[in-house]
Amino acid sequence: MVFKKIETQSLPDIHSEGHLYEHEETGAQVLYLENDDTNKSFTIGFRTPPYNDNGIAHILEHSVLNGSKKYPSKEPFVELIKGSLNTFVNAMTFSDKTIYPVASTNEKDFGHLVGVYLDAVFQPKLYQDPQILAQEGWHYHLENEDDELIYKGVVYNEMKGASASPERQVYDHVSSQLYPDTTYSKNSGGDPKAIPTLTQEEFIAFHQRYYHPSNSLTTVYGDVNITDLFDRLEEYFTGMGRHSETVDLSIEPTEPKEAVYTDTYSITAGDDPTGKDYLALGWHGALPDETLDIFGLEVLDEILFGNNQSPLKKALLDAEIGGDINSDVSDIGYPTAFLIMAKYSSADKMAKFKEVVQETLTDLVKNGISKDLIQAALNKITFQTREAAISEDNPRGVIYAIQSLNTWLYDKDPFVNLKFNHYLEELAKVAEDGYFEELIQRKLIDNDVFTQVILKAEPGKSNKQEEETLKKLQEYKANISEDERQRIIKETLALIERQETPDTAEDLAKIPTLKREDLTTDEQDYPVDEEVFGEDTSFYHAEQFTSGIDYIDLYFNIEDFEADEYELLGYFSNLLGKLATDNYNEAALQTEMDTHTGGIYGNVSIYEDVDGNIKPFFKVSGKALAASLDDLIGLMKEITLHTQFDNKAELLKITQRLISNFENKINFSSHGIVANRALSQVKPTAKLSERIGGIDQFNYLKTVRDELKKDATELTDSLTQLLNKLMNKRRLNVLYTGEASRKNTVKDALKTAFESLPNEDLGDKVTYQPGPKQNEAYVTAQDVNYVGLGSDAKGTLDYSGTSQVLSTAFRFDYLWNAIRVKGGAYGSLYRHTRNGSVALGSYRDPNIGKTLDVYKGIPDFVKNLELPESELLKYIIGSLSPLEQPKSAHSKGLTAFNRLQRKIKKDDIVKLKKEILATDSKKLSALHDDFKTVMEKGSVVVIGNKAQIENEKDLFDKVYELY
Ligand SMILES: [Zn+2]
Repeated sequence: MVFKKIETQSLPDIHSEGHLYEHEETGAQVLYLENDDTNKSFTIGFRTPPYNDNGIAHILEHSVLNGSKKYPSKEPFVELIKGSLNTFVNAMTFSDKTIYPVASTNEKDFGHLVGVYLDAVFQPKLYQDPQILAQEGWHYHLENEDDELIYKGVVYNEMKGASASPERQVYDHVSSQLYPDTTYSKNSGGDPKAIPTLTQEEFIAFHQRYYHPSNSLTTVYGDVNITDLFDRLEEYFTGMGRHSETVDLSIEPTEPKEAVYTDTYSITAGDDPTGKDYLALGWHGALPDETLDIFGLEVLDEILFGNNQSPLKKALLDAEIGGDINSDVSDIGYPTAFLIMAKYSSADKMAKFKEVVQETLTDLVKNGISKDLIQAALNKITFQTREAAISEDNPRGVIYAIQSLNTWLYDKDPFVNLKFNHYLEELAKVAEDGYFEELIQRKLIDNDVFTQVILKAEPGKSNKQEEETLKKLQEYKANISEDERQRIIKETLALIERQETPDTAEDLAKIPTLKREDLTTDEQDYPVDEEVFGEDTSFYHAEQFTSGIDYIDLYFNIEDFEADEYELLGYFSNLLGKLATDNYNEAALQTEMDTHTGGIYGNVSIYEDVDGNIKPFFKVSGKALAASLDDLIGLMKEITLHTQFDNKAELLKITQRLISNFENKINFSSHGIVANRALSQVKPTAKLSERIGGIDQFNYLKTVRDELKKDATELTDSLTQLLNKLMNKRRLNVLYTGEASRKNTVKDALKTAFESLPNEDLGDKVTYQPGPKQNEAYVTAQDVNYVGLGSDAKGTLDYSGTSQVLSTAFRFDYLWNAIRVKGGAYGSLYRHTRNGSVALGSYRDPNIGKTLDVYKGIPDFVKNLELPESELLKYIIGSLSPLEQPKSAHSKGLTAFNRLQRKIKKDDIVKLKKEILATDSKKLSALHDDFKTVMEKGSVVVIGNKAQIENEKDLFDKVYELY
């Protein structure tokens, strides 16, 4: 046996037996988490400490996926995913490791994914082909002698977008200050200023050094044939020998040299920087073998910062250190740094910030933390871990692999983080003896490995940087020889040629795919029973095994609410559970909720059925262990009926937080924002979503914030009136997801709880309209753009299996190549949903007009589409894949309700699958005229760079400032 078993441990928290193996020749370790979960996963990881900010680890992560010895096509992974039923495929770079996880419920598919990943990481083509670094990392781009010389590359643009986030900059500074001269002071994603220093020689040396079996850690999870898997690994491990040097990631934290570190970040030129600074305090937390303290710090974070009423968060908000306060304990990398960050602050508040933190913490140590608060935090985390162990929303095996690596990567026991119940129980015990107070003293008050970071807002900084880069490139271009310039042009054109040349049929055929006979049109049942609840309302029961958790969703019918009430509704939904009620103040309510439930949330859900009817609901969701049902329902009732809206200070805190969250969303998912905004000009449901959670809501929140700084009685009144209007028995439907034996208990308890609601006729059903149709641009301080297009395809292009196969072809072929590979954007989205919505969006895109031209080219792509059977089959499988994703018990309940509202039956899904399977090239290209109409009817919305929007302003009817 070439893989020797070192240790076996029983892991009841994750329903697994854990086996640790070592490969004799190379010393590679494999952790096998054995259980009967059909959603199998495989994660291979390497220690990859970067030595500077050139993004080497991140660019390598991208580049190994660009062809390998056995699979020489340009992007075997894209080809593989097209035709895979995977439930998860990704590659991720952390500050000291890179991991490649895959998951699938299909055994054969799982084998394909593992095989292609192994060849990619161990035998990549990047050694022989420098065009891979040029495309994925960076290159000088010059197509004609007279053009501006620019930098281009996928990671280069990705990081330009990512580094625009001030939060991310704060994290990077804190990490560099706490851990200078270590791997953790480097930007593992890559700093756009440093990326263009990376050379092909460095690139290869890094791969040789770190992508060796001896430096690998592999986790296998689920119902897997481990002997087969070992054979696959053996193919790449045998003959590799053992790397003489091990990768040492140990650190010895010492007191930082500078007490306060100051830098700036960019806001839009001309914007007022007042109140836009960030302040942060950071401490080194714990080393990887201080297991109890690592769990302890997470619970402490929940105790101090879990919600606006938590003692330290509240103290900082009340002292107006910042409009929003965040904390974090594990996202900086290995050393689990503890971080507190104040947003909407000013640099001169730093001393006060530190003082409030010190005073509050000292008080907590001296007077003791409230026992209820500790209990609530422990319960909340216990509920979350218990629920995660039965969740299907992310592949559990991948999450467990990452958790194991948190110790394993540093040569510590890989099992400890998989035994969380043990540590949570231990913490509950030691809490009695003052553990958390002692932890505060030791880790936060007496800890010298501590830093203060100030990030000031600087208007127009990014423009200045862009100009500097441009100038540097202009000088470079002017100073190189004619030969050198010609060489750059030649290389640019050669790269474009590579990008435009399709892979050979021979190379494509080497990539393993499923066959038609591996596919089925079977569809799972999502049962739901409907019973009478009140007058005109229903009680829905979705029977599911939920491991002892009750999921209750209250759906209040709001079809008689006017469109312009939806901004308030969206805002209102985010206030529930966070404000005082008739019987609890804010803090007591939070403690009660955390102690007895898994959370209670408000939300607005809008369904559109197959006939175009819109069914909007205001929704209150709650979950708890069965033993706490009475508490859960009692609290849901308290929150829905008795919330008070007159505490302006609290309202302001929550509002700031909501604004802050949306600003974050602008940095990380603007492709979704522009796509929905564009759709809202043609689809009424999308317009309602805009009002609840899009740019409309963001603008509304800003007016609310201004109002709250003044009188705000009007706001309090409208919220109270809204609550009164909503609380009507004739609106209330219920969805219960849980076991059959509990249905009547739950139903009776809810009936009694809401008995006292008024019972009144609803107003007339409102017909909702889309927003005004106009091409819009929103200016931000970012260097990149997000280009959205939305169109109503209803009546033109049918939603069918054929249209879904085309969607897959757009995503993996046309848009992928045109927007990402050639355009240099990070990515794009394409969606065509059953209600006829067609939406497109690009992500971290250097272009605007060019991307719109790509969208306009869709009909031609469709027209000329001629797919050989092997390619067609890939798109067929890729279209079935999203329909085969595993769901958690609660998601199954919600899916059942959703389908009922939209009048979609199981047979409709089976029909869709049959159409997907019956698709051929002719059916696909026949849709080109329909696409032409759909694209022509579309609306355009862009979020992006100020200068670029100005340069292309003719594309827009309206240009707005987003902030
Ligand atoms: Zn990336």
